[in-house]
Amino acid sequence: MAGVLAIVTTAIKGAAVLLGTTKLWFLPTFLATLAYYHYDLFDPENRVVNEKNLRSEYDFIIIGGGSAGSVLANRLTEIPQWNVLLIEAGGDEPEIADVPILSLYLHKSKLDWKYRTQTQPTACQAMEDKRCCWTRGKVLGGSSVLNTMLYIRGNRRDFDQWEELGNKGWSYEDVLPYFKKSQDQRNPYLAKNKRHHATGGYLTVQDSPWGTPLGPAFIQAGVEMGYEHKDINGDEQTGFAFYQYTMRRGYRCSTAKAFLRPIRLRKNLHIAMWTHVTKILIDKETKRAYGVEFIRGSKKQTALASKEVILSAGTINSPQLLMLSGVGPAQHIQELGIPVIHDSPGVGQNLMDHIATPVVFLIDHPISLVIERVVNLNTALRYAYLGDGPLTSSVGLEVVAFINTKYANASDDWPDIEFMLSASSTNSDGGTQVRKAHGITQNYYDEVFGNITNLDVFGIFPMILRPKSRGYLKLGSRDPMVYPLLYHNYLTHPADIAVLREGVKTAIAFGETMAMKRFGARLHSTKVPGCKHLELYTDEYWECAIRQYTMTIYHMSGTAKMGPITDPGAVVDAELRVYGVQGLRVIDASIMPAITSGNINAPVIMIAEKGADMRKCARICVESGKPFWEDTLSTPNQDSRLNLPAIGSLVYLESNALDNAAPKVGYSL
Ligand SMILES: Cc1cc2nc3c(=O)[nH]c(=O)nc-3n(C[C@H](O)[C@H](O)[C@H](O)COP(=O)(O)OP(=O)(O)OC[C@H]3O[C@@H](n4cnc5c(N)ncnc54)[C@H](O)[C@@H]3O)c2cc1C
Repeated sequence: MAGVLAIVTTAIKGAAVLLGTTKLWFLPTFLATLAYYHYDLFDPENRVVNEKNLRSEYDFIIIGGGSAGSVLANRLTEIPQWNVLLIEAGGDEPEIADVPILSLYLHKSKLDWKYRTQTQPTACQAMEDKRCCWTRGKVLGGSSVLNTMLYIRGNRRDFDQWEELGNKGWSYEDVLPYFKKSQDQRNPYLAKNKRHHATGGYLTVQDSPWGTPLGPAFIQAGVEMGYEHKDINGDEQTGFAFYQYTMRRGYRCSTAKAFLRPIRLRKNLHIAMWTHVTKILIDKETKRAYGVEFIRGSKKQTALASKEVILSAGTINSPQLLMLSGVGPAQHIQELGIPVIHDSPGVGQNLMDHIATPVVFLIDHPISLVIERVVNLNTALRYAYLGDGPLTSSVGLEVVAFINTKYANASDDWPDIEFMLSASSTNSDGGTQVRKAHGITQNYYDEVFGNITNLDVFGIFPMILRPKSRGYLKLGSRDPMVYPLLYHNYLTHPADIAVLREGVKTAIAFGETMAMKRFGARLHSTKVPGCKHLELYTDEYWECAIRQYTMTIYHMSGTAKMGPITDPGAVVDAELRVYGVQGLRVIDASIMPAITSGNINAPVIMIAEKGADMRKCARICVESGKPFWEDTLSTPNQDSRLNLPAIGSLVYLESNALDNAAPKVGYSL
């Protein structure tokens, strides 16, 4: 504010000096206004610019400005000599996306690709046409603009397993610095744990500014069940905790807001919004990616990439674009008349997701998040002025628990179920937006929730953490605008239905704790359509019910998986380079070889942080044996380990890891 006043005052004084007259009385005000808006351009949190005049060639082209793409655009443009084009099919995020309680209103909006799976008999039977709705962000910031902002790193064993699968450099100890690199942990108690948390990063992680009395009760109930209250992003995962959120002062902190807005004035970054990439250009002879084809306005255009094309279009669109460009299962793409550049049978396979089913408990007290009660003018003003109040609630999700069913080895600290504990459920908005977002039929809603619409409840969503079922996707057409065909294959592996069923039973036991009974908790046990012939509380009934209202948690991943060359299903190597094509990487959720045990946005951001560093400094990171980012703030002098001049804080090597060119010494940042 002081800065604005200074600029305005200077403008007025300047005008007075220039004119020395009062004839053009409006000029000072006019100049002051201009100055004010000029200041606005330099506001670090201001919106990014949609570049109108694109160059014909860049060093890097990033396809997709989502969770991963935003991070990459930031980190690669830290090298001033590198020009980067970030292409995003959607536009900038609207203000409404900032408001945590309204996130479900973004589903099925123009910010959503609105994908739906093919009809399959194993799950989503309560949905329209028995098709699950797979919301994906079509907006700068990608799915981080529509998500519920839950910040969960996953289990250390997930990453150790990635390395055991042949992906060197992806163990927990390897990836932990990259989680911390982005993080600005605002909870001082959590931030004290410096091994696991960091402050000062681009991505704000904070506690919810507001909660219902149910939150502490959830924790208490967990303790009653024998679990500890702990930081689930800390040393151990098993236990109960208040959620940590990617939120800033009660507003959503999408990756676009976190990573792109602060660097919006970098001259070496162009962002092209409303631009749909239709193909990666790959030289048939050299098999090198050299650019992209895209549609902007209604015009087909191309841009060339002298160093690399990076595919960050997410789990559905990254494999789709690979196949459209000739990289994928040869027979399938040939059948569609697409010339094969590289036969990569794993493209579109290994599709993983987390699913849950809602378990609902009625309570006696008006303390839950009934939308028509808590969203009103008072709460809106409280939110606007203070960044506080019920509107900061992430649709009621307050507490997370990582628990073990009888199928998990409790001593492993590798739980098999996550409880998402919420002060709301499907009925809490009067059968409007949640029903629409999940795509459940009106009939199912009316039968199951009709008689408890807008009543006070709490919800438990037991989510299976490491499903064994694998889905796949394939092209429906060679036309890039036609959506790929999505086969979820949920619950096709018998272990998955067994774990989820036990998760549901544990959720019911949770509702029976003293801590929850204090609120008069009682299970909403109306039998669901399709399972009425089965006896309530039997395994058969729960298995049937899970297959009706099968909720995706929107963690699609794994469709261009990372793996060693000996794995025929691997699409990228441990440096995320596409096998069989040079100058092309995939960096997003699709590279996960196995889904992480938790919500996956934080791991995707980590993947992008690490992916960017691999391109910037692959060799120095490995050779120094020390995470690169820890060198920030080191004094400008010789880097003793490599005998390279470390200028300022960071050194990078202009190395193309593919051709092993001799490293050239880099730049200060
Ligand atoms: C509704 C919802 C709730 C979720 N809740 C959570 C949560 O609470 N916590 C959590 O950890 N995770 C959550 N997730 C998951 C998490 O947000 C995603 O896994 C993560 O954002 C995926 O990142 P990505 O970079 O792989 O893809 P995205 O973020 O989806 O980015 C892909 C980008 O590429 C663009 N794109 C695609 N194709 C093209 C093309 N042809 N041309 C140009 N651009 C293209 C897209 O428009 C998009 O912006 C949620 C996801 C959703 C959808």
